[in-house]
Amino acid sequence: MSLKFHVFQKSGRARLGKLELKRGSIDTPNFMPVGSKGAVKGLNTPLLREAGAQIILANTLHLYLRPGSQRIEKLGGLHKFMGWEGPILTDSGGFQAFSLAPLKKITEEGIKFSSPIDGAKVNLTPELAIQIQEELGVDIAMVLDQLVAGDAPEKDHKHAVERTTRWAERCLNSQKRKGMNQFAIVQGGIFEELRALSASQLKALDFPGYAAGGFCVGENKKAFRKIASYTADLLPHEKPRYLMGVGKPLDLVEAVSWGYDLFDCVLPTRNARNGQLFTSKGKITIKRAEFMEDETPLDPECPCHTCRSVPKAYLNHLFRVNDPTYVLMATIHNITFYLDLMKKLRSAVAEGTLEDIYNKMKEFYPD
Ligand SMILES: [Zn+2]
Repeated sequence: MSLKFHVFQKSGRARLGKLELKRGSIDTPNFMPVGSKGAVKGLNTPLLREAGAQIILANTLHLYLRPGSQRIEKLGGLHKFMGWEGPILTDSGGFQAFSLAPLKKITEEGIKFSSPIDGAKVNLTPELAIQIQEELGVDIAMVLDQLVAGDAPEKDHKHAVERTTRWAERCLNSQKRKGMNQFAIVQGGIFEELRALSASQLKALDFPGYAAGGFCVGENKKAFRKIASYTADLLPHEKPRYLMGVGKPLDLVEAVSWGYDLFDCVLPTRNARNGQLFTSKGKITIKRAEFMEDETPLDPECPCHTCRSVPKAYLNHLFRVNDPTYVLMATIHNITFYLDLMKKLRSAVAEGTLEDIYNKMKEFYPD
């Protein structure tokens, strides 16, 4: 374990902290842009740095399947491969195996499925998930967990919680490389007693960090808010807490107020490509005719290069003619919006003004 984490200040349950890793430190709460296949789609690493990213997320399973984690190891590891010297967190592949592979067989040993790329048989065990992440050379590795659908019966969730604990222990025991930090993943669906059981079993294994997983798999929004808030308090106070796969701007404001420190989500990058741009006055659809002659910047409050250099009319044009430059400019903006929101949330925790941000966000991002 090479991680250090300090909470400097609290405002209600919200925490202001710093996560120190060998390759750099991360001001928390913070957002990790998602680079599933070794790139945050549309951006290169100098642009990511300029947008203010302090840590990025990559995907174990995608990189294992292509170009292969052993190949990346031969090429000097993922940091060198993609030209990013800051910290990298990788998920374990459990979520992708759950969501991408139509035919899968989950046993005590692991998850067996066919590669969505070439049909090759994959046997993703806890040991293999850790081995891949060691080959990639990442800073934070996630344990392999077992997901079940959000609406599955309680007994399925209980079974998954207990197996996730056994797999977490196998992950810890199989680590060979020093300096990689494993985070455990608390499961349990929308059931409070199962979340508590999962957290207590995993806490006993003394991981350097903890995540709340199993969200965004079909549970409803109200249930999500209740259980995500409840789960935050079950996680150790002195360790980093990561809420996986969440979320929309308002979700982030709320989750910070519940005491989470780290987040990731594909929304800013995916929405940028689809023409949905986040601004301080709400989300806009850039292709709409109303922007064809709009001379104003996308968001006058945004510090990004796109907002400082071109009007909405230009982005509208690039989107309509399908120019790849649109993706670059839109992604820079959406990522900057998310990272800037996290910066504002950190200031708000320091100043005790989280509620002001919440109210403003609620006005412009009602759902
Ligand atoms: Zn911008």
